[in-house]
Amino acid sequence: MADSLDGNVLAAKSFARFGVTHMFGVVGIPVTGLANRAVQLGIRFIAFHNEQSAGYAASAYGYLTGRPGLLLTVSGPGCVHGLAGLSNAMINTWPMVMISGSSDQKDSGRGDFQELDQIEAVKPFSKFSVKAIDIKEIPDCVARVLDPAVSGRPGGCYLDLPTDVLHQTITESEAEKLLAEVEKGRVFEATKAPPSSEIEKAVSVLRKAERPLIVFGKGAAYARAEGELKKLVERTGIPFLPTPMGKGLVNDDHELAASAARSLAIGKCDVALVVGARLNWLLHFGESPKWDKDVKFILVDVSEEEIKLRKPHLGLVGDAKKVLEMINKEIKDDPFCLGKSHPWVEAISKKVKDNVSKMEAQLAKDVVPFNFLTPMRIIRDAILGVGSPAPVVVSEGANTMDVGRSVLVQTEPRTRLDAGTWGTMGVGLGYCIAAAVANPERLVVAVEGDSGFGFSAMEVETLVRYKLPVVVIVFNNGGVYGGDRRSPEEVSGPFKDDPAPTSFVPGAAYHTLIEAFGGKGYLVGTPDELKSALSESFSARKPVVINVIIDPFAGAESGRMQHKN
Ligand code: ADP
Repeated sequence: MADSLDGNVLAAKSFARFGVTHMFGVVGIPVTGLANRAVQLGIRFIAFHNEQSAGYAASAYGYLTGRPGLLLTVSGPGCVHGLAGLSNAMINTWPMVMISGSSDQKDSGRGDFQELDQIEAVKPFSKFSVKAIDIKEIPDCVARVLDPAVSGRPGGCYLDLPTDVLHQTITESEAEKLLAEVEKGRVFEATKAPPSSEIEKAVSVLRKAERPLIVFGKGAAYARAEGELKKLVERTGIPFLPTPMGKGLVNDDHELAASAARSLAIGKCDVALVVGARLNWLLHFGESPKWDKDVKFILVDVSEEEIKLRKPHLGLVGDAKKVLEMINKEIKDDPFCLGKSHPWVEAISKKVKDNVSKMEAQLAKDVVPFNFLTPMRIIRDAILGVGSPAPVVVSEGANTMDVGRSVLVQTEPRTRLDAGTWGTMGVGLGYCIAAAVANPERLVVAVEGDSGFGFSAMEVETLVRYKLPVVVIVFNNGGVYGGDRRSPEEVSGPFKDDPAPTSFVPGAAYHTLIEAFGGKGYLVGTPDELKSALSESFSARKPVVINVIIDPFAGAESGRMQHKN
């Protein structure tokens, strides 16, 4: 019928109509038609090699844009691979929607091609999931997964589209009617804010504090609270500490930045205003001995559940930007500022100066074969040289991520993506692709270990195919953590001659992988070679892999997480 359309087309139309502009995924039976139609309707479809990477991309896209990142997968194994991305979005509280084709409903339970009870499989990893059991349900189901992904605490949602539903047809006019009805009925949750009495209490506690600290994380970044945060820091003179992905909300080089005096700041503060960051392992659960046992926490979080879990002195449930705006307004009526000569501010700033000068002395040395610090300093300077808009830095690996977190300087919000709350390794290439697509004006620079890179190295072809301005710098120390660190007594048994479980082929030519697809690769081992590769690739703004050879015995096993080993 000339005026009829099928489920694939109706799904694509629904996404386009309800504001989706990008999708990530891997096509195949039964969703290829959906992807093709989405492209015709103006949605950019970024086709990956592997759903895991595409899922990581969708999760990061959600974080960077504040709109759900979409992942399209085939049924069964495609859906299972996609769970990596969906779970990553849930744990990081980022908005994402996974859409999977599924097998024919009439063949359910009979061993159909790629059959799986996908609604059951996604349950632990999603906020909400729904299956369209008839073509007429598609527009409503699409709206029902898009909206909860971004409302309240963001997270992952799942839409199941069975093959038979994708093959059903309806008339154009019927489809239009359904789309219009759903569009009209969509309701968006209002931005949450606490009562003003709670804000007054919070300001009063901050005002009375002797050693206050402001901590902020990726929830504040997601809320786009940078303007209000900077205002708060500067109006009150309170030192601040970003979490790894909170870096850049206020410039890392700001005179009140306490990152280089982290232990002192968290160990001695008496009141901590924590905005959009969980008191989880990354913040030592807010407990002594890392924190003072009497510290008063004021938590700002969009999730009431999170606040109840942590039992803070005061909990402000609401959107970080809105809550900070209210706090700033309350302070404006009766301003206070600690001032540079306040003993707490002085103590932090002295510690910062001491630690920074010690670190700079280490960084200033040109160590060859490379340790982690020398190339990181060169990369830091090259990134700072780009100016504004600052590049997005993607970082993963053990030592590479740890060292990068303290050495690389973030000057703009949402310019750092790393292994995150779950310590997820293998996110690098997916995050790079998402960042390049979400921020076309920014260069993307990945600084990752060879192990992190290897999880999804094939996606360098995706970088080349879509001509994305991404420079992937691989810290190549020949394995997970580096060379074979086993003591002689640990090397025994019938397979003792095999390489160590932590080892990869020494000196692997990672730079040639991208060349196989027409991208540019560099192999570097000295400061001058690295500087020249960075300068060329940053100005070319084309896909590049820089293979940096690192001393295999530099750095430590498990990086800074040895206590968990
Ligand atoms: P980090 O890793 O930077 O410490 P977390 O992921 O642990 O940050 O914490 C982010 C917190 O931010 C989550 O508890 C989440 O509920 C919260 N959050 C998400 N969006 C908002 C928002 N708009 N306003 C306030 N809090 C938010």
